[in-house]
Amino acid sequence: MSGIEIGWMVVQIAAGVLAADLVSGIVHWLEDAYGKEDLPIIGPSVIEPNIRHHYSPLDFTRASYVKRNGPIFVIGAIIACLFALVGWINAFTLALLIAGSQANETHRWAHLPTHAVPRYVRVMQNNGLFLSRKHHGGHHRPPFAVRYCTLTNLMNPVLDQLHVLRGVECIIRVVFGVERRCDTGQRPSTIRQHAP
Ligand SMILES: [Zn+2]
Ligand SMILES: [Zn+2]
Repeated sequence: MSGIEIGWMVVQIAAGVLAADLVSGIVHWLEDAYGKEDLPIIGPSVIEPNIRHHYSPLDFTRASYVKRNGPIFVIGAIIACLFALVGWINAFTLALLIAGSQANETHRWAHLPTHAVPRYVRVMQNNGLFLSRKHHGGHHRPPFAVRYCTLTNLMNPVLDQLHVLRGVECIIRVVFGVERRCDTGQRPSTIRQHAP
């Protein structure tokens, strides 16, 4: 493999990780802004835990690895099959899928005390390549409307400073008449007190 080919592969991997960070933010924003706990299938399994995370942030850190990551792995496997079917398996798509599948783990690490995460995670958090505790803290203040990306600290400034998601919310409001859901940080009466 030539130096140019190695360089191109590194660029594809970096782009795949940044794309995964962006996707994690867009999916999280969709859940926060438009997710309802009574939606079929994803309501109880994805949206309700997400709403609960805002008023009880440590709950999901105690769930099993499979419970935390199961939905993301199922969606990732479906997307991987679709990529394989159309011949889109390359360094970019593999980095996107692998990094994206870990977005909930980097999120969990950002909620754990510093002494509870492995040393390599602390190093990665300190250089912003993994979501850091301090950076993610900005999301956990009502109305929970900034810093949606959960993989790294890198894409949140792009989305927030360019007001990308606020702009899309405006378009959705004007075109479809749908307001985003606003979170107060308190448990809504529609959410069960204890996770099932
Ligand atoms: Zn959120
Ligand atoms: Zn969080």
